[in-house]
Amino acid sequence: MKTFTPSRTVQIHGLAQKKRSLGEKIYNFSAGDPLIKVHPSITDRIKKELSSNEFPYPPLKGLAELREKAAAWMGWNMENIIVTPGGKFAIYAACTVLLEPQDEVLIAAPYWGSFPEIVKIAGGEPIIIPAKKITGKDLRLHASKKTKMLIFNNACNPTGTLYNREEIGDILQTAQSLGLTVISDEVYSELVYEGAFVSAAEFNEYKENVITIQSGSKSFAMPGCRIGFLGAPAKIAETVSLLQSQSTTGTSLPSQWGALGALDNKESVTRYVRDAMKKRRDHFVRTFNRLFDDKIEAPASALYAFVPLSHFKTSLNSVDFCEKLLDKYNILIVPGSVFGDGSAVRFSFAEEEKMIVDGLEALKKAAEAL
Ligand code: GLU
Repeated sequence: MKTFTPSRTVQIHGLAQKKRSLGEKIYNFSAGDPLIKVHPSITDRIKKELSSNEFPYPPLKGLAELREKAAAWMGWNMENIIVTPGGKFAIYAACTVLLEPQDEVLIAAPYWGSFPEIVKIAGGEPIIIPAKKITGKDLRLHASKKTKMLIFNNACNPTGTLYNREEIGDILQTAQSLGLTVISDEVYSELVYEGAFVSAAEFNEYKENVITIQSGSKSFAMPGCRIGFLGAPAKIAETVSLLQSQSTTGTSLPSQWGALGALDNKESVTRYVRDAMKKRRDHFVRTFNRLFDDKIEAPASALYAFVPLSHFKTSLNSVDFCEKLLDKYNILIVPGSVFGDGSAVRFSFAEEEKMIVDGLEALKKAAEAL
């Protein structure tokens, strides 16, 4: 039997949900699960479509209307868009379609913990480049004859780092000159609090080598629906749809209806989620800086603060620190080692304000006692 490494973010979040369902008081800073009421545009659309009382198989590539709207959002044409059961599956599908055994894939660290594991499952080999902001120069330094791909994450989970147009242009141009495909994971594009988001799909001159990934989980706060989007050159999109025809048979219809409701009212839905998450981010940063001597800066985007362990004056490593906090205090944070950087720990600030304040106060006491 094959063995797989579990997603630690999903695992820790699952534990949080279990503890909560058992009535335990927990402080959940684990996964980027934007815990707010779903915008009515989403639920209204699902209810309306449900009234037909019909559940046929979904179109393999996704509902035409949804693909059209996602194409406009993501900067592609409809034929380039495949609707997938989550952004994570879109990345998995792209890697499965493109990677041959032992192909190397460049990934900047800190990275989202699933990137290297997905590459391995697809038979490739992740090559980790320590770089909070990766550049074309980094690609040239680390690419070999076996390198096929770069997985690029803008905005970045776990650091919230945002890339500007010039930086993305440099990366795409270098990737093209090295013959690399770039998977650009852009699932936090609507959760930008300072600065402007630029998509890799905006660079027409490099588009033949670019795949962009989107999701309903973050921008529309509907992670339980498992809906994502892949934007890719038509041949790759077509092959991903063949993979879906032999695996998922497409994406659940109610999830697609929900995403349609979100995209039909994109400005109000994304503003609603962004405003709520920005408030939580500001609350997190303000409270953290009130309680701890070493201050943090507000991340420009996404749902996380990646905080150096040194801020907690602990001699423990990131795994032991998080384990102790979980076992003794029901405080759930994610060790930086999950993201390829054990010198820090990741907090998600996606839960409601009171939990953030209570949790950080509990952490302050716990860190002093550890
Ligand atoms: N992407 C989110 C996170 O990093 C959700 C969990 C996951 O799929 O990793 O927390």
